[in-house]
Amino acid sequence: MKWEYGRRKKRTGNRFLVLLILLLGALAVAGYALMRSGVLPWPPKVAATAHGDAGSGTVAGSSTDAGGGTVAEADTGDPGEYVDSQFLMDTYVSIKAFGQGARDAVLAAFDEMRRIEAMTSRFVPTSDVSRVNQAAGLDPVQVSDETFMLLEKARECSELSGGAFDVTVGPVVDAWGFSTGSPRVPDPAVLAKAQSLVDFRAMELDPVQKTARLAAPGMSIDLGGIAKGYAADRAAAILRGRGVKHALIDAGGNIVAVGTRPDGSPWHIGIRDPRGSSPTDTIGPVVKVEDEAVVTSGDYERFFIEDGHRYHHIFDPKTGRPADRAESATIIAPNSLDADMLSTAVFVLGPVEGPKILAGLDGVSAMVVGPDGQLTFSPGFRAN
Ligand code: AMP
Ligand code: MG
Repeated sequence: MKWEYGRRKKRTGNRFLVLLILLLGALAVAGYALMRSGVLPWPPKVAATAHGDAGSGTVAGSSTDAGGGTVAEADTGDPGEYVDSQFLMDTYVSIKAFGQGARDAVLAAFDEMRRIEAMTSRFVPTSDVSRVNQAAGLDPVQVSDETFMLLEKARECSELSGGAFDVTVGPVVDAWGFSTGSPRVPDPAVLAKAQSLVDFRAMELDPVQKTARLAAPGMSIDLGGIAKGYAADRAAAILRGRGVKHALIDAGGNIVAVGTRPDGSPWHIGIRDPRGSSPTDTIGPVVKVEDEAVVTSGDYERFFIEDGHRYHHIFDPKTGRPADRAESATIIAPNSLDADMLSTAVFVLGPVEGPKILAGLDGVSAMVVGPDGQLTFSPGFRAN
């Protein structure tokens, strides 16, 4: 009897154990499904350290097709549509793709963007950029073909913009604390020293050896104004390579349209109002694009307010201070690498000088929101 009782008890115990394992398994599967669908963000959203996109998930340019932001969206239920949002390159990136295999293509596109982040971020100690920065004032450092191409493009943009765009801006970004997450107005002596280290001409590029060298110790490259654009182009290439004909990538204000909307009409992109009460408030015309990029640089992405003054993350290398000639600059261009660096350059130059640098660039146009909210369009800005 005792044994029987014991056995019965043991059986009940086994059944309980099996039920528990099944329950835990079901919970794990459900959790994973929620994460993949974006309902549960992973990695988890980081707390905002300054106002802006790093913590709030808002974007520089909001897309009327993308729903105005990069907030995680679940699969819409349409079997041909897949929408996902992930935090990478210090911003929320959302990709919407249509057609067979859309899900796998989108996940591969995110992987590609992560690869570029690992290569170009100065906050990843093993990246090409970090290695060049660590060797500032010392030896040339060999970098990947892609990093080399980005550095060459950056130098072209510096020359085109008369130094308004300068990827050696790292020391100034650091002096203002935007790389540490606790931005503040720097001590004038600290800022003067940092500013003296910014000079794209002191970045030596060897196209044969594919090396880069910074001439003086303390100099540092910061690809923050260009790398996301390139990553978004690469994401588009991955999607296209996997047969996706209709997709929209929104990488923190770097929007790339792949093809048209599924019904054949162009994608509709709304440009974020820099002083709107919500990230989905737009300003100016709706931009209609297919196979093109629309990229916005704005003073609302990362900023802090002190004594009623807005200090933000895009610097005028000539002053070492946040550029104050525009609230935002939007570029339409055939690819988002060009659009990204040009939007930063035009932002620094402002509505009068900025659009001038675009003359002669095929298929490139701009809309600048000036300091009082007034709009300036370069010739050829297509919108209605
Ligand atoms: P974006 O939002 O594309 O305009 O890029 C802004 C980022 O570019 C900043 O967070 C910095 O990392 C970097 N940056 C700031 N000022 C400049 C500048 N004058 N030239 C090039 N990059 C800059
Ligand atoms: Mg940029």
